[in-house]
Order: sequence, then C-alpha cells, then structure tokens
Amino acid sequence: MTAKLFENNSMLKECEAIVTACTQKDGKYLIELDKTVFFPEGGGQLSDKGKINDIIVEHVSEKEGHIYHECREPLPVGIPVKAVLDWSVRLDRMQQHLGEHILSFACWKLFEAHNVGFHMNEDSVFIDLDKELTEEDLLKAELFTNEIIWDNRPVSVDYMASSEAVKLKDKMRKFNEKLTGILRIVSVEGADICTCCGTHPPFTGMIGSVKVIRHEKHKGGCRVEFLCGRRALLDMDKKNSTLLKVAQSLSTKPELVPEHIEKLKADMQTQLEAVKSKLLAMKEKQLEEIMAVAPTDANGVKVVAWPLDGFDAKDIKAFIPKLTAHENTLGLLVAAKPERISYAAVAGANTSIDCRAVMKELNAAFAGRGGGKSDCAQGGSDYCADWEAKLAAVVEKLVQ
Ligand SMILES: [Zn+2]
Repeated sequence: MTAKLFENNSMLKECEAIVTACTQKDGKYLIELDKTVFFPEGGGQLSDKGKINDIIVEHVSEKEGHIYHECREPLPVGIPVKAVLDWSVRLDRMQQHLGEHILSFACWKLFEAHNVGFHMNEDSVFIDLDKELTEEDLLKAELFTNEIIWDNRPVSVDYMASSEAVKLKDKMRKFNEKLTGILRIVSVEGADICTCCGTHPPFTGMIGSVKVIRHEKHKGGCRVEFLCGRRALLDMDKKNSTLLKVAQSLSTKPELVPEHIEKLKADMQTQLEAVKSKLLAMKEKQLEEIMAVAPTDANGVKVVAWPLDGFDAKDIKAFIPKLTAHENTLGLLVAAKPERISYAAVAGANTSIDCRAVMKELNAAFAGRGGGKSDCAQGGSDYCADWEAKLAAVVEKLVQ
C-alpha cells in the first residue's frame, strides 16, 4: 500500500520515496512507491502530473489500494527516488475542484438547487443542477461564491465514523447514507461541508475567483459551466482581447459593440431590401418580354414560364399577383437557390385551367412534391443544375 501524503497535506509539492514495484503495461511502466504526493484521478478531479527523478509521470491512477504512476521509462525496484509534482497542474485542479464545492454550496444555499453531476477536463468544468436557474440567479451564486473566496476561509479535512458524520447531514448539501466506515469530511469554514476524496487548497483565497461562463437547460435542471483561478483569468484575457479587436475594427468603445452591431445589422437589412426591390423591378420588366413571346396551348391559353434565379418560395408569393392580373394565362414560376427549387402554377384572370394537373407535371419533371387548388398550386424539390431545361420541357409538353 502506498502512503497518500496528499490526503493530509495538499500543499506538499515533493517527497522522497522508495520504488516498490514497476510493471510494464501497454507500452507504459506502472511505477509504485512506498509513499507519494501524486493524487490519482478520482471523484471528478483529474490526475496529477510531474516527475519521479527525471522520468515524466503522465498520469496517476488507483486500483485496489495500489497507486500507479504511469511513466514512459522504468525504474529499478528498491531504489530511493524523489517524486515532484507539476505544481501548476495540481494548483489548477485544486482551484477548479474547491471552486466547484463552493459554487455548488451557493446554488444549494440560495436556490435549493442540488449538484447532481460534476465534470472536469483540461478545457472545461461544469456542474449539473437538478433545478433550472436563471442568469440572474447564477450571477448571485457567483458573487456569493467569490465573497467566500475573498474571505480566505480555512478549508479543513476531518476523518470520522459514518455514524458520527450522519449527525452533520442537515448542514451538508448532500450526504450518502450508504457510506460506511471512516469518512473523509472536507469543510469550508461557515460554508460547504461534504464527503470528498480530492485535494483542496488549505484556504479559499487560493482559488482566486470563480466565473460562470454559460448555462443551459439539462435533464429538467441546468448545466452550469464555470472557470476558476488561472483558467478564469486566461479566459478573461482571451475574451477581452477579442472584444478590443472587434471594437477597434468597428471604431467604437468596447461597451458600445452590441449597440453598434445592431445598427450595422439594421443598415444591412435596409440595403438588402433596396437591392431586392430593384431586382423585383428588373424581373417585372423581364416578365413583359417573356409574355410577348409566350406560346399558347390547344385551348388558346398563354403558357408563361418565368425563371427566377436566386429567389425562393417566399419570393414566388410576391410574384404571383403579377401573373394573375393577366387574362387567359397560365403562369409557371420556378425559383432556384443552391439548396432548393421552388415552383408554382398559377391561373390568370378568367382562365379555365386546373393548376393541380399542371403541378403533377412539375412534380414529375423536378422529382419534387407539391399541390394546391385549381387556380394556384405550389411545390418544391432538391436543387438541380438543369432546372431551366426542365421548366422548358414542361412548357413544351403543355403546349403540344
Ligand atoms: Zn472535494
């Protein structure tokens, strides 16, 4: 069994130890020591990293009481070694971990929302709550958490029998009644008390700060992503730098960026509408030319094929009245965009024709679907490059 020095002193950065075993597995060496400062992965907290002598420890795991330091090189059993943590990694883990304790406590204390899941990886940290909280709620919980951090309250570790620990359960945000034997109780003075196997800084001030990044609905409650300590600072640096670049590009102040973007969007919409209005006028002009040379069917109905490149189903609705105004006319409108073909068959004023039958011809030609009434029917299909040729073929069939 390896003595776990990290359990009672999370600030211990290194120790002298003796190699007690070294086994090879999957191209790695699993080194065991008589004692260690390395915390193995567990309880939602990631593994420590560091070195044993000059050999890099990539990952640490625990199985059946054995702590395995996963290394690329072996070490002889029986030799004395020096085990040294990568302290920046350990501090990061402890900041996220204790930050999670206190933020969970804040959500429970202020809103009776229980932590039902904790996930930490190298890029993100989040908790799952059993109750949906608003952005305003989370800002309150965030401030409450940071005030406990700035108080620099002591964090203590106590060992007690489960029969003793159960007496504290009303003060704990969660307590597993099934736990037996000696329990490890981690307490933040005047705040969170819970059973935990992880490593925690001795004072809350070492967390630095907690920042909630985003939240979303999750399984009837919500998922809250947050960052602590150095991670929160680096994230702030990155976002601030992005905001400053955007503000510079827009020649405005950072705090005015949202307002500026809304104005740009409105200006763009106005310009788009102006362009579209010109396009519509051009298409109407084109319709006059098409009508002048349109063929007629056996009943003397003028068959007008109107190709609308770059338009969609919504635009077709705007174009339909331009055709219904004409007597004794059948209009075939086909709008094409790279992702979709939309089409319509429409009868002009005083025109005796069944557009549903015409729609069948269009559906067959474009391998699409559509229907409607005798005076107007609409449909659509996937995009095809030869859509104008298909439209011409339908007209040819109708005027035979
Ligand atoms: Zn913990």
